[in-house]
Amino acid sequence: MTASVLRSVTLGVVFGLLAAAAGAQQRADRFTVGTASAARGQTATGVISVPAGSDAGYDIPVAVVNGARPGKVLALAAGSHGTEYASIVALERLISELEPAAISGTVIILPLMNVASFQRIVPHLNPVDGKNMNRFFPGSMQGTQTDRASFVITREVVEKSDHLIDMHGGDIDESLRPYSYWTKTGNAAQDSISRDMVLAFGLDHIIISADRPKDPNASRYLENTASLRGKPSITVEAGHAGTVEPQDVQALIDGTLGVMAYLRMLDRPVKFVERPVWLDPTATVASEASGIFYPVVARGTYVAQGMKLGYVTDYLGKTIWEARAPQAGVITYVRAVPSMTRGEAIAVIGVVAR
Ligand SMILES: [Zn+2]
Repeated sequence: MTASVLRSVTLGVVFGLLAAAAGAQQRADRFTVGTASAARGQTATGVISVPAGSDAGYDIPVAVVNGARPGKVLALAAGSHGTEYASIVALERLISELEPAAISGTVIILPLMNVASFQRIVPHLNPVDGKNMNRFFPGSMQGTQTDRASFVITREVVEKSDHLIDMHGGDIDESLRPYSYWTKTGNAAQDSISRDMVLAFGLDHIIISADRPKDPNASRYLENTASLRGKPSITVEAGHAGTVEPQDVQALIDGTLGVMAYLRMLDRPVKFVERPVWLDPTATVASEASGIFYPVVARGTYVAQGMKLGYVTDYLGKTIWEARAPQAGVITYVRAVPSMTRGEAIAVIGVVAR
């Protein structure tokens, strides 16, 4: 190789590096998710399009709050279960309440992932394909609408973020007390950050979740999809039985601001919840009969082993089954409606961890 060729190659490399740096700078200043593209210091809204395939496509609403200064990218997602209303309303409110001028970093907000569930008032499932939208991550473009929605959310939101908070609550048929999930991945450094995130979120009951899938290509849950890609993330639950209680919405908003303080995205003191109740494991009590369900415990009640939780009658009033607590613990949620089918959950008990 002659000197002049070497010089032109070197110059080429230098110009290439300069161009790449300029590109990175542009990317750092403007943040785009789907059609929502926000310049630094601005909020933009738009949609992430789920293309049509074997069934219809649709648009997932998205907001990008691009802070005035660089920092972490936090994704907030709700409404994979489109009738868990408190979490959906909380994220809708956060879009206008978050001030880009006060933020370091970027917040991606998906207030309602499962639009058909919300519109048709169908709990748990996407009525278009009958699938639970928090069980098919990371998704696939070859599948039905839920698979394709999961795929575009993984590509557009999970892959562009550093952390994720997936918001849920008691569905229409679930009377739930608020709690967070802390997922233990086995990576100590990552688990320590996600543990701080649940403590900064501030809900005082925390379920320890150690049994999530470990395969990034079959991650099932949204939060697990982020966690398996090395992004410390949490799931939180507030709201119950179709209600939009102000204290549930506020808990989700305050919790988000608390995590943003911990991630240094907001300039305010970090407050960790004091003396949280850690729950591990949880026990699901499934009904052994179909009929009309009557609870005798409320959400949040502490129960002793063997205590009666409720009973099921046939449709003519004869008691055909009694539900009892298999273990002592706290009722994280209990069935909120009389409809009961054999095999379905009547309650979940969180066992207080030592
Ligand atoms: Zn949910």
